[in-house]
Amino acid sequence: MDRIPVAILGATGTVGQRFVQLLADHPWFEMTALVASDRSAGQPYAAACHWLLPTPIPDAVRDLVVAPLGRALDCPLIFSALPSAVAGPAEERYAQAGHVVCSNAAAHRLDADAPLLIPEVNPGHTALIHTQRRRRGWEGCIVTSANCSTTQLALALKPLHDAFGLRQVSVVTLQAISGAGYPGVPALDILGNVIPFIGGEEDKVEREPLKLLGALQGERVIDAPFAISAQCNRVPVRDGHTECVSVEFESGVQIDEVIAALEGFRASPEIANLPSSPARPIVVRREPNRPQPALDRDAGKGMSITVGRVRPCPVADVKFVVLGHNTLRGAAGGSIHNAELLAAQGWITPP
Ligand code: NAP
Repeated sequence: MDRIPVAILGATGTVGQRFVQLLADHPWFEMTALVASDRSAGQPYAAACHWLLPTPIPDAVRDLVVAPLGRALDCPLIFSALPSAVAGPAEERYAQAGHVVCSNAAAHRLDADAPLLIPEVNPGHTALIHTQRRRRGWEGCIVTSANCSTTQLALALKPLHDAFGLRQVSVVTLQAISGAGYPGVPALDILGNVIPFIGGEEDKVEREPLKLLGALQGERVIDAPFAISAQCNRVPVRDGHTECVSVEFESGVQIDEVIAALEGFRASPEIANLPSSPARPIVVRREPNRPQPALDRDAGKGMSITVGRVRPCPVADVKFVVLGHNTLRGAAGGSIHNAELLAAQGWITPP
């Protein structure tokens, strides 16, 4: 099979570099264009990019000249890792021009006609693309992936909400520095410190899981009917977001049942066969001191989340800790996973 040509918007950034790394050997997609700001445009990728990953810059893109944003692109699929303010109008222009845009940015996540997608959680929400195309008159479309902290929370909540029904959720996040992009948080602010504020983050973590776990009815998603309270903190960890979660169910549930629901969670066969799908979306650890970002963020090549410390909660019903890799499952890996689902469902037309 010929690979589908793809472009990356924001290819020089923290998430953009993950896209480049993950797409270098992708069986379905081939990078043909890299786009960044005017600061980088016109330079070979290796010169424009301050490469931060341990693997080398892939040979296939080392000398590719970075294109400016707005240039016409000759590929059916575009990944967007742009800052949200830039992403909003740019993604719309590319979707209008006929491209399928898989976005990491927040700009369109809560648009009523834009799928906010995690393949194992809500694959059927891609049907919103019909509505989006009809309402906006586009041949292309915008499909979004969730905020990095939302993604792992929604994955952990999915089997619990399906099995037992959630009444309310409280989450405290410990978020890695790479989540703030590059150069991100100044070293003097974060070394030996915790910053109890990440602009806009709590609103995203409180709202996005309700859309992800919501029900598609006709042409819209009805939010899942439970409340989330989030407190978000930046901590001096390089990669991997940790979250301490308490959940209250609609009726009483035993701890063993909660662990069994998490451990038994598997993707449907349609999803499990996608190239980026991990064998287990949720890994459950029984040791009292796991998960830890340094030890668990790369589970399932960074596409599995890890849940541990599942135990009774004296205030809610059950509490646990969940960890996920913020630039893999929580960003570039998740977006590529979404594009694989779109390709498998026939939304992307190869040239
Ligand atoms: P970043 O490291 O700051 O990278 C931003 C990228 O966008 C760079 O390639 C930059 O190009 C480009 N860019 C900035 N302004 C531009 C403009 N006016 N026109 C064209 N390109 C422009 O940010 P990031 O952490 O990768 O985040 C990218 C997006 O993903 C954001 O929307 C963020 O919220 C989202 N996200 C991030 C994470 C994470 O863990 N980091 C997780 C989920 C979602 P230059 O190098 O040329 O300046």
